Amino acid sequence: MKPGNVSQSFDCVIVGGGHGGSQTAAALRQSGFTGSIALIGAEPEIPYDRPSLSKDYLAGKKTFDRMHLRSQDFWGSREVELLLGRHVIGVDASARTVMTDHGEQFSYGQLVWAAGGDPRKLSCPGGDLAGVFYIRSKADCDALIDVLPDAQRIAIIGGGYVGLEAAAVFREIGKHVTLVEALDRVLARVAGEPISRFYENEHRARGVDIRLNSSVASLKGTNGRVSSVVLETGEAIAADIVVVGIGIVPSVGPLIAAGAKGTNGIDVDDFCRTSLPDIYCVGDGARLENGPGIRIESVQNATDQATTAAKAICGEFKAYDATPWFWSNQYDLKMQTVGLNYGFDSVVTRGNPASRSFSVIYLRNGAVLALDCINSPRDYVQGRKLVDSAVRIDREALADTSKQLKEIELVTS
Ligand SMILES: Cc1cc2nc3c(=O)[nH]c(=O)nc-3n(C[C@H](O)[C@H](O)[C@H](O)COP(=O)(O)OP(=O)(O)OC[C@H]3O[C@@H](n4cnc5c(N)ncnc54)[C@H](O)[C@@H]3O)c2cc1C
Repeated sequence: MKPGNVSQSFDCVIVGGGHGGSQTAAALRQSGFTGSIALIGAEPEIPYDRPSLSKDYLAGKKTFDRMHLRSQDFWGSREVELLLGRHVIGVDASARTVMTDHGEQFSYGQLVWAAGGDPRKLSCPGGDLAGVFYIRSKADCDALIDVLPDAQRIAIIGGGYVGLEAAAVFREIGKHVTLVEALDRVLARVAGEPISRFYENEHRARGVDIRLNSSVASLKGTNGRVSSVVLETGEAIAADIVVVGIGIVPSVGPLIAAGAKGTNGIDVDDFCRTSLPDIYCVGDGARLENGPGIRIESVQNATDQATTAAKAICGEFKAYDATPWFWSNQYDLKMQTVGLNYGFDSVVTRGNPASRSFSVIYLRNGAVLALDCINSPRDYVQGRKLVDSAVRIDREALADTSKQLKEIELVTS
């Protein structure tokens, strides 16, 4: 379809060609949906694997053609019309139409909003200087890769997974890396203290200069290009480039403007339905009303919510109840998470972090909420049963590495 002021109808319009959007289209066909489907995506590429951006793609170990979620042929054979390289800028829930920044208008029978999030931008003075990068899209990452050969000193702002993964890649290619984190530990929002301290030690041992409790006051530049990060203490950290990883802002503006309920993202019910008729929301931008009260930013969540929404559109109402999982790769460390530690009141460390193969188990009222497993795939696989059981489990049994987690007897009291 050519850009312009055209109007076309689709039985289902999906906004966002990332993990949630592509899975919605695939799951619709799998569930027998025979209507017309349009996938409208802001990025020009066919749907691809986003987590690789801060891992193997940034490191030059994986080419983009190996990151496609489905082949080009898949989309054709499933009769999914890919309308790429355009933003949906408006939704009219009464007229059942969406508008794009190309001046197009599409009407829909069902609408699935899967637009993910935009990187949260640095708001301090100098935040818009050249040489400041984010990692959310292939275009972001390509722009960063282009300047890497000429950058020796890299400052990373934000000690979350994206910042830490980028730090690992940069150290492996010999860059001088300083990582600035405002809180008193890295991964503070997502992991328990043993995990934070473990990663801090690993990165420091590999030469990353980690600055905790350090807020950025401004970025300074020379001829419009960033040259240093100035902390609130007044200290200036010299940097040829700055990479910012301070979270995302859900991309839900047009849906909120259309009247959908939600404050931090879009509120959805167990079937990923929004408060607007025949409009669903999945992935990073969706907040389950009956969930833990937060949006979950992971491939698993986007994919499983997409499947839930697609099934509901096809008349199969199966409430979303997937067990969350996540992963992060840094150096030779593979972390796998199962469950959601939100609201934990104690932790058990299983194994010795010094061995670089251990797990941190999160509990609430004695029941296992989640496990972070470092180079410990067996705990990850076996820990799922503990999370799903939701029964109280003896802390000593969890810490006892002479026994596998699957040997723990689950007794409901
Ligand atoms: C660098 C990086 C590393 C990550 N690593 C991991 C990991 O190791 N494990 C893990 O589980 N998760 C990881 N994540 C998170 C994971 O990628 C996201 O949770 C997942 O992609 C969410 O899927 P989504 O469909 O909601 O959004 P996305 O995959 O981001 O897709 C949203 C798409 O919608 C498009 N869009 C936005 N607004 C509009 C609009 N108005 N109109 C049209 N299109 C629009 C966007 O351009 C984007 O293509 C990582 C994320 C990043 C950025």
